[in-house]
Amino acid sequence: MLLTQFINEPTMDFNDASVIGNMEKAVSYVKRNFGEKLPLIINGERIFAEETITSINPGNFSQVIGFISKATQKDAEAALEAASTGFVNWQKTSTRERAGYLFKAASIMRNKKYELIALLAYEAGKNWTEADAEVAEAIDFLEFYGREALELERVNPVIPFPNEQNELIYIPLGVGVVISPWNFPLAILCGMVAGAIVVGNTVVVKPASNTPVIGYKFVEIMDEAGLPAGIINYVPGSGSEIGDYLVSHPKTRFINYTGSKEVGLHITELASKGQEGQKWIKRVASEMGGKDAIIVDKEVDLEDAARGVAASAFGYTGQKCSACSRAIVDKEVYDDFLEALAFETARITVGPVSENKHYMGPVIDKNAYNKILEYINTGKKEGRLITGGSKIDLPGYFIEPTIIADVSSKACIAQEEIFGPVLAVIKAHDFGHALEIANDTEFGLTGGVYSKNRRNLERARREFHVGNLYFNRKCTGAAVGAHPFGGFNMSGTNSKAGGKDYIKLFTQMKLVAEKL
Ligand code: NAP
Ligand code: MG
Repeated sequence: MLLTQFINEPTMDFNDASVIGNMEKAVSYVKRNFGEKLPLIINGERIFAEETITSINPGNFSQVIGFISKATQKDAEAALEAASTGFVNWQKTSTRERAGYLFKAASIMRNKKYELIALLAYEAGKNWTEADAEVAEAIDFLEFYGREALELERVNPVIPFPNEQNELIYIPLGVGVVISPWNFPLAILCGMVAGAIVVGNTVVVKPASNTPVIGYKFVEIMDEAGLPAGIINYVPGSGSEIGDYLVSHPKTRFINYTGSKEVGLHITELASKGQEGQKWIKRVASEMGGKDAIIVDKEVDLEDAARGVAASAFGYTGQKCSACSRAIVDKEVYDDFLEALAFETARITVGPVSENKHYMGPVIDKNAYNKILEYINTGKKEGRLITGGSKIDLPGYFIEPTIIADVSSKACIAQEEIFGPVLAVIKAHDFGHALEIANDTEFGLTGGVYSKNRRNLERARREFHVGNLYFNRKCTGAAVGAHPFGGFNMSGTNSKAGGKDYIKLFTQMKLVAEKL
């Protein structure tokens, strides 16, 4: 197979007239399909269930994106059965062939880019720029893991031993359950599936209930790429009903999960209990939440720092696990920074993003909306409201970008993941104090430092305990291959999605030694 070197998929220019023209066509195409009924996919068969999940546009309640079939425990059982049967041949399929399906899917995805961006904008409330970055990331995962699987097959990491021919091989685990979040409903789902199947596993996918339509489109693309039946089985459904069932099932060999800490810990606990007929210890990859901080040092370009913090805090309405939710600012530049940040934030427009009219869209659903507004109320008592602080009266879940200053590092809004457009600003006496505050949560996902002081950056390199640390740039936007992604502590098991070690998580190593 002639393979070019991996490079990140380029993003688009939404000021270009031809790009806008294509997006307009894609938007009308997606709109024409509003309200479509979509099936489950089990062993390649499309199954229309009685009960459905209604997926709505969080930025316009009157728009129903689709009605997706809702899997029951019986469907979940059938999906695990299909994945188990599928595994028999798939594990023996050559890596070259398996990677080939990923490369083909990447190419189909490129051809459907506009449509996927439009759908992400409607179903997940992403502006086009964010949606484009997500589609590019999904393509990157396919291209990257395909290449990594071929590479993994070439290595034999054992040293020579006298009179023996020895080999260490990476073999698949078996049937995996993939449980994905709504905030990157295409890229994360695609990456978690692709990384697992390319090394020979088969999977049952339970997408987040807020975004099942985009997940379906991904499985359809894999199907179009020619992937055999039973390798990816798609069963949207309730976390508590079928999620628990899938996780605790004795046929499940591993769980690849991304989502909140609460659900991640629950899954880890459930998976650790052996079930009747279960022959293995289940492996759990669990990537969870964050309470990510950016430190603003006193030797700093304040405008640059304010732009980076605002983009990290309010990009995709703060609904990224990597989003900055704490700005920790040296007392000497505190007031000036707040002013620069308020100025940056005032430029953000909020409203429906499905036709790219605004920068910041809605939050994902009613629960999130109410929870975030509650945090804002708490925050108003815990600090000084600088900007925002209210909901916006539109038929969608819109909340203003909100900055609350003078927050104590122990305050509720400085410790708990809010997952919305709310930033707590905390004052530090000096750089050491800032680092202390930054590390003082149970999480450890991303972090950032804006500083011109080389020694402070070096100190942060050693002492800022997060999986992804960024200097003088925003703390969101990890690129596949360049910024392997995954955190420490309660942020998860540090899978490092988009990194060279990722696909190995879904393999076990077999050593074969032969006496010569
Ligand atoms: P969530 O509510 O925890 O849901 C995640 C997934 O778990 C969904 O598919 C959900 O299904 C499912 N689920 C819920 N209860 C379950 C159960 N009892 N058993 C099995 N599955 C169950 O998280 P979310 O709101 O979708 O996503 C936001 C969270 O994800 C944030 O905390 C964010 O920080 C985190 N995140 C982390 C990363 C990372 O790489 N570290 C990346 C992205 C997001 P339903 O939708 O049906 O409830
Ligand atoms: Mg929705």
